Amino acid sequence: MPELPEVEVTRRSVGAIEGARVRGLRLGKPLRWPLGVEPARLAGLQVGAVDRRGKYLLLPLMALPGSAPEAAPGVLLWHLGMSGSLAWWPHDRPAPEPGPHDHADLLTDAGVLRLTDPRRFGAVVWAPGTQALPASRMLAGLGPEPFDPAWTAADLAARLRGRRAPIKPVLLSGELVVGAGNIYASDALWEAGIDPRTPCARIGPVRAARLHGALRQVLGEAIEAGGSTLRDFRNAHGEVGQYQGQRRVYGREGEACARCGGTIRRIMQGQRATYFCPGCQRR
Ligand SMILES: [Zn+2]
Repeated sequence: MPELPEVEVTRRSVGAIEGARVRGLRLGKPLRWPLGVEPARLAGLQVGAVDRRGKYLLLPLMALPGSAPEAAPGVLLWHLGMSGSLAWWPHDRPAPEPGPHDHADLLTDAGVLRLTDPRRFGAVVWAPGTQALPASRMLAGLGPEPFDPAWTAADLAARLRGRRAPIKPVLLSGELVVGAGNIYASDALWEAGIDPRTPCARIGPVRAARLHGALRQVLGEAIEAGGSTLRDFRNAHGEVGQYQGQRRVYGREGEACARCGGTIRRIMQGQRATYFCPGCQRR
């Protein structure tokens, strides 16, 4: 499943769409949520700088002088779901005919942005703005962004305080910080030397600071590596990610821990596999 690093890698690979003018939006089979606007009303709008919040990509659509009176400026939220990826086809490399898994094409005067999503848990949703429904509801309740300077070790420590639940599932929930999906949560806990079964409340300020740094380190490395391609993730230019070769513990059950030489174990926590080293990750 594409996680925050893969979505950020996708965002960085679709920069060429900024400034393009929309010609139309072609939809395939239904996605997780409806578009919420007549596609024809997007024609003539200009795409602004692509932003990201959690695992949503935000494409601002702005009216230009001369836009049709029925035009619907606002924002398009793109979500990659379980298996989605975006591809950018510039004019000098025209997009092939849509295949059976291509469910949304944003047609612009600079090229085509295509969502391919075999399992169709992804979505393209229009809203008048990020503060307006349905965008406001989709973005509500997301934890802090990991690279936002306002997200500090003290903030993380405060969110851990008084919680009895084990740290790993709470990290996956995105309440502490967005972006720590299964691979990155497992690896960050190894980096911080924290057992994934540790109750949140037992992680004091010192260990919280280590975890804060480890989350930024692991997520930052994953973005630099172009994300993880365990199954089928590709950026908008069709390139695979390389983080899977740098995994500390995720998917490495039975292998030797790079830090202490212990054997990496796999356990289940709330239906999700967790990988860790019992030798050097403490409760
Ligand atoms: Zn170890």
